Amino acid sequence: MLKSFAVRALAPAAYALLALGLMAGPSAAAGRETAAKTLFGAKKLPAALQSDSIGSYAKGCLAGAVALPLTGPTWQVVHPARNRNWGNPRLIAFLEKFSREAAAKDGWRGLLVGDISQPRGGPMVDGHASHQIGLDADIWLTPMPNRVLSTRERNNIEFDSMVQAKNHLELDRSHWSNAQARLIMRAASEPEVQRIFVHPPIKRELCRIWKGDRSILGKVRPYWHHDAHMHVRLRCPPGDDKCKPQAKIPPGDGCGKQLAWWFTDEPWRPAKPSAKPATPHYTTLADLPVACRAVLQAPAVSSRGAAIYRGSADATPSLASAEESVASVPVPRPRPDMR
Ligand SMILES: [Zn+2]
Repeated sequence: MLKSFAVRALAPAAYALLALGLMAGPSAAAGRETAAKTLFGAKKLPAALQSDSIGSYAKGCLAGAVALPLTGPTWQVVHPARNRNWGNPRLIAFLEKFSREAAAKDGWRGLLVGDISQPRGGPMVDGHASHQIGLDADIWLTPMPNRVLSTRERNNIEFDSMVQAKNHLELDRSHWSNAQARLIMRAASEPEVQRIFVHPPIKRELCRIWKGDRSILGKVRPYWHHDAHMHVRLRCPPGDDKCKPQAKIPPGDGCGKQLAWWFTDEPWRPAKPSAKPATPHYTTLADLPVACRAVLQAPAVSSRGAAIYRGSADATPSLASAEESVASVPVPRPRPDMR
């Protein structure tokens, strides 16, 4: 989603680094091992194993994924050609239930659901740094239209930003309304939800208007690239023992100093290429939890997954987001407790 202004700000720096050979591009010769994103990106179907989210949100994989059906009564999957509508069964069940409740109780017609994970999770050739263990989902802040979108429409859809084109730190109230606020806070109120990422002025608005439980508000985290969608992250499901939880959110509503930092220049300054770059590196299978090897090698699910799956990866090259992860991104990073 290249309308996001933060992506535009980031891209020139990233391209410059690529040109300088300082960043690991797809063919960077960091070693002879194949990049993990190539191995996982090539898998079209999930591993026929019991479901398991393995590793951390930004360094892991997913066994026994299930697909969110492309069309449901209260949701539609967008960008189906990416084949990223796979998740931990808990997340898929959550999305179906959440979409039903938002429709029934808040009048949100339905969810437009973007990327979840690849069929076996893992790193992606483009886009996100997280979304690796089937517990992250991007939900667009534009409601589903009152009809079923065609595949072509879904693959080409562009979304309205909730912030002003001229000033990304102010909401665009021709797109933003209390309906979006209710949707985000409904997600935040779900005990399974660990964090939600939104662009900073969205958080500021919620701080201003939210009259309910303020500790729930603390789950809503300001972050780059989330001006047109929210990113919902579930906790590690009980029983998924190899799932590595993210650090707890600091107590409180997160509306004070942590939020104020986002309205300074610091988070938005373009990165300077460092004088002495680190050795180019990409994630290999050896960097992931050992269990991810078995996930990659396992036979694919047969009929069930194949019936749901209809797409082929249309890898749109993008330097977009190293979103919500600890992976490198050429902009100053918030302190870990801010995420
Ligand atoms: Zn996301």
